[in-house]
Amino acid sequence: MRIATQNHKEIEMANPTRKKKDVQPLVDQDRVLDKVNTYSAPSQLRITDMRVAVVASNYDYPIIRIDTNQGVYGIGEVRDAGHKENALQFKSRLLGQNPLNIDMIFRDIKRFGNWGREGGGVSGIEIALWDLIGKVYGVPCWQFLGGKYRDKVRLYADTPEPEDATPEGYVRRVKGRVKLGLTFVKFDIGMHVLEGIKNTRIGTRTKYEYRTGDWQNAPGTGTGVHVTDKGIARMAEIVAAVRDAVGWEVSLCIDHYGHGMLTTKEVIKLGRALEPYGLAWMEDPVQWWDWVGHKEVRDAVGVPIAAGEELYLLDGFRPFLEHRAIDIAHPDLLTAGGMLETKRIADHAERFGIPTALHFAGSPIAFMANVHTAAAIPSFVALEHHGLDLPFWRDLVTGLPENYMEGGYVTVPDKPGLGVDLNLEGIRANLRPPSGLFEETSYWDTPKLGFWQPDRRWDK
Ligand SMILES: [Mg+2]
Repeated sequence: MRIATQNHKEIEMANPTRKKKDVQPLVDQDRVLDKVNTYSAPSQLRITDMRVAVVASNYDYPIIRIDTNQGVYGIGEVRDAGHKENALQFKSRLLGQNPLNIDMIFRDIKRFGNWGREGGGVSGIEIALWDLIGKVYGVPCWQFLGGKYRDKVRLYADTPEPEDATPEGYVRRVKGRVKLGLTFVKFDIGMHVLEGIKNTRIGTRTKYEYRTGDWQNAPGTGTGVHVTDKGIARMAEIVAAVRDAVGWEVSLCIDHYGHGMLTTKEVIKLGRALEPYGLAWMEDPVQWWDWVGHKEVRDAVGVPIAAGEELYLLDGFRPFLEHRAIDIAHPDLLTAGGMLETKRIADHAERFGIPTALHFAGSPIAFMANVHTAAAIPSFVALEHHGLDLPFWRDLVTGLPENYMEGGYVTVPDKPGLGVDLNLEGIRANLRPPSGLFEETSYWDTPKLGFWQPDRRWDK
């Protein structure tokens, strides 16, 4: 072998008195090359197709498959509740490319991504390419991210809201999660927990809004309803009851009281009221893009602030990290730009003393992408699991054992690529009509609106 021969020569030059028969290469290069799943040759690998299958779920999963001229394919997914078109729009740019040139392809397409679900196409393709590369070279994805810091990744559970938004209802739900072995649990408390309780809110909702003019589209303005001290006390009562029920060894975090439903001043009041209960974090306290607002809250309360699930690329995170506007970076890998970009975000956060937790609500495919990435992040906290109550969730792939979650942790796989593969039967049984099962997508073989301009691959 050429590489082995070169190694022999180098060793011989360094040790001229050594006899040739004593010289052994440090690595058996023939065995290494045997492991490379070349099919023919990596340098000849080309992308030939991209296909999708949309799975119906609590948030739908647009699963993508990138095919090549050598039979090997990569799998990924657009962010949960995102659009398959966010990935398909890039098909014409991918066809004919060597998928091993992942950084070049990523630079090429990332210009067309954006925050939230709009980052899902770029991120899903990035995952599929890493899966492909891992399969070609017989290496698990975590290796491409620099190796592992751990063999098992801690999960944190999202918890469905109880029908009765009482302290008892929340205790029941969170205890259910702890029974599954989880040691880290998130639950949602919002203004709805105050429904029907007198004197917890001031004012009434504004009337006559157009449907799209509701609070979701004018965040930061509140709902026209403000929370009273009694309302804050009720929210704190729920958190106190949960803490009391599960004890102090379980990490707890809360979400969904922000997003514009509460103003910055109200969130600060709430945060101060929650300080005694040792929360791991309060999530997304104000509008996702407002790093100054996050900093106001972060500077004013003792509860750690986590944010970032809508932020796109390291560039999106930089002001939040560099101004220390948050305590915990919380990227969603399917918006943030995929596996390597999420690792970059975590590494950058680390310079500012900010650890990283991973937001996630997708299928087992992106779940595994998160597991590989989490394994490679030194300052990793926990990975979200939003599919614990979905009976079909694990059936969407092969390679994920029934007991994949043990004691609230998941084992980092050693198999090539993501370590799971498509289970076509499981996907077919859960398709969201009119989606078919990886049907042809030749419509996207040619560029569409917005892709006519000359190549500017090296733009930021
Ligand atoms: Mg959230």
